[in-house]
Amino acid sequence: MITEVDVVQRAIAIRREIHRFPELGFEEERTAGIVERELTDLGIEHRRLAKTGVVGIVRGELPGKVAGLRADMDALPVLEQSGEPFASELPGKMHACGHDAHTAMLLGAARVLQAERSRLHGAVVLLFQPAEEGPGGALPMIEAGAMDDPPIDAVAMLHVDTRLPTGSIGFTAGVCNAAADEFYITIDGVGGHAASPHTATDTIPCAAAAVLALQNIAARESDPFKTVVVTIGTIEGGYRHNIIADRVKLGGTFRSQDPEVRAGLERKARRILDGIASAYGCRASLEVIYGYPPVVNDAVLAESFRSYLAQTSTLSVETPPATMGGEDFAYFAERAPGLMVRLGVRSERAGSIHPGHSPQFRLDEDGLAFGVETLVAFARGVGSGRVEYGPPPNATGSGGGSVDRKM
Ligand SMILES: [Zn+2]
Ligand SMILES: [Zn+2]
Repeated sequence: MITEVDVVQRAIAIRREIHRFPELGFEEERTAGIVERELTDLGIEHRRLAKTGVVGIVRGELPGKVAGLRADMDALPVLEQSGEPFASELPGKMHACGHDAHTAMLLGAARVLQAERSRLHGAVVLLFQPAEEGPGGALPMIEAGAMDDPPIDAVAMLHVDTRLPTGSIGFTAGVCNAAADEFYITIDGVGGHAASPHTATDTIPCAAAAVLALQNIAARESDPFKTVVVTIGTIEGGYRHNIIADRVKLGGTFRSQDPEVRAGLERKARRILDGIASAYGCRASLEVIYGYPPVVNDAVLAESFRSYLAQTSTLSVETPPATMGGEDFAYFAERAPGLMVRLGVRSERAGSIHPGHSPQFRLDEDGLAFGVETLVAFARGVGSGRVEYGPPPNATGSGGGSVDRKM
């Protein structure tokens, strides 16, 4: 299939319209309004849920399975420096992760699928999701029934990626990114005069020792084949050079891919912190805020979709390595066989070379045609039964992230 020019032109125009007015998580009123306007124009039934989420349904006239297609709609608190003529008109807010393009491509796919309803098998649920960058819109959408009516058999998403050249897409079977959990440490001691350390309990050396010791989780306590990242991103403490600090606070993130490894990180960190604090005569507390689980791509789905694309398209399909980023599509993929597809938008010519979340981020809009094509192919393949998938992840307990968001 070569996506029709007018579909792509329309998708690009919508992407620019969304790009000019970026909205943060659960504030996507304007963006959801654009989605509703377009779906109404196309005659596609739709409903609002999870505040700014929109679910549309394309019903094929032939019997078949139900494909879910998910796009996120939110922007980031970044001051745009892309130099694009349609750059953000709202200072401090920017579509720096490409979610504007995700939304526009899903609307493009909706346009193609709605036009071919008489030949389309099954149904397609269009999932326009708020707040992917936080606090997370996928779970509220699911809890509001986004996957239930009609029940989704297999679900896919696209994410633009400036590591892959325009014209290519990529996906892998199994875990393709990471669980991203935050942690906060507070170390308490007794303040005092810098010249009389014996009258105080200094938290600074304790914090320094803790920073180094926590690296042991990754370096010595984890299976080298099961990736773990422990990063301390912030340290704050102390008053001035001649005062012993009574408190130091540290903030950081754990990244992991294996559910068992992830479940052990808090316990290991707590043990290390208790030991270090005790050695230095301080007290340490740890708070872990659990984020999204890793996305686990269904292996049968990945393989079957790859061969379907080889038979029905000229798309170049890569096998990119996993990343340690987070993505709340994981929750959809825990409930139905799922596939996270990376869409190549790298182009030196278009200046599309900066990574997502950069203020200079640009994406090559020539990639949008391939994204629409990929989404349409997924819906056609799943609906007709030509793209197969494994059992629902939760039914087999193989669904990756088993840890709740907050604990
Ligand atoms: Zn992002
Ligand atoms: Zn993103």
